[in-house]
Amino acid sequence: MRRSITVFPKLTDKEVSAIVETGKQYARAFNMASECLINNSSTSKRFLHKVQYGRIKEECPSLPTGLIQCARDVAVEAVKNWNVKRTKLKQKHPKKAERMKRPSMKDKCTMRYDVRTITLRGSQLTFSTCDKRIKTIITIPEFFRGRYSPSDGWKLKGANIGINRKGRVFVNLIYECPDHIIEENNDGKIVGLDRGIYNIVTTSEGVHYGAKDARRVKRKYNHVRSELQEKGTRSAKRRLVSISGCEKRFVHDQNHCISKKLANTDDVSVYVLEDLSSMNMLRLKGKSNKTMRKWISNWSYSDLEFKLTYKCQKNGIKVEFVDARYTSRKCSVCKTIDKASRNGNRYTCRHCGSSMHADVNAAINIRDNYITRAQKSGQAAVNQPGEPSGHPVSGWSATGKPETEPLGKTLTSKPSGLPEGR
Ligand SMILES: [Zn+2]
Repeated sequence: MRRSITVFPKLTDKEVSAIVETGKQYARAFNMASECLINNSSTSKRFLHKVQYGRIKEECPSLPTGLIQCARDVAVEAVKNWNVKRTKLKQKHPKKAERMKRPSMKDKCTMRYDVRTITLRGSQLTFSTCDKRIKTIITIPEFFRGRYSPSDGWKLKGANIGINRKGRVFVNLIYECPDHIIEENNDGKIVGLDRGIYNIVTTSEGVHYGAKDARRVKRKYNHVRSELQEKGTRSAKRRLVSISGCEKRFVHDQNHCISKKLANTDDVSVYVLEDLSSMNMLRLKGKSNKTMRKWISNWSYSDLEFKLTYKCQKNGIKVEFVDARYTSRKCSVCKTIDKASRNGNRYTCRHCGSSMHADVNAAINIRDNYITRAQKSGQAAVNQPGEPSGHPVSGWSATGKPETEPLGKTLTSKPSGLPEGR
């Protein structure tokens, strides 16, 4: 498990310019390494070192060897990712795959440092640059010092150093702790989470985390933004930049609050989410209307997912993903798929007559999909789903064999989580 702390060390102008120069050479080293790998269709560090090390050393004479190695490692990772993405894209759009931009770095890049190139003793931080090693004193807040203390197994793994948009040097210290220290909580409940726009998160236990505030704030910013864009003066543009920051911070804060509440809930062992990775594809295909697309485009589902995952990891809660298809159209009691049963935020089954909030229905379906999958794959430790208040969960527990949804069908509907018919 990794965590990071960002600090802003106080540096002299000379030291800052040394970092800027290091960044330039680092970017050059990275670009040379990634070009070499792609041209030789290789992802081997050893090969790269053999072929390109001497030339990089010539091109970037004052870049410390440790940093050349870091740039090389980052380049290998970037090229590997790039290959995976390209192979995926090739299957669908071969022409687009040909035009895909190669991994490259600009002069103003963020450099990765490892334990050889950065050291932290007490509050003294030293790290190498093109010039000489910079020595500086940093202050890590008391809160973090307690949280990532070496006695709990936390170790400094490295850092990312760069210059932010405001021209300040930041140091992103990365701490690592071996995973086995955190115990997994295996005897809690399995809870399904349905994400949406009208309710950010709804749990299968029936708890809603509303999006009313978020929608109000987003609507406000959308309005102000469109007015400023129309004006188009220089001061309007400045205001636009600052607004984008405000909105981002609001969303981040909200996602932090929700994920923290969820991660700190007792007696939960697994959170099940629907896999929304196909959302972007859907948007491109134009399967949703204009207002829907607008909401989706500034919907921060992946950010919430990320925050929830890392917070749960710390508390020993697993986060799992299941297929998103039909979760909002299926009745969670009799498992019949019927689009017409949903009316606004109510789901009233036309077959068995059960009625509940549509998002809770979807959340229960998400949870049951996970349980079904886990049983099929033979995972032993799957608890029986707890009965949510008022809505007895039948289906699989009664018959032992759950009805499964038709798999392999092409996705023609919006994924669940998005309110339908509105
Ligand atoms: Zn039903």
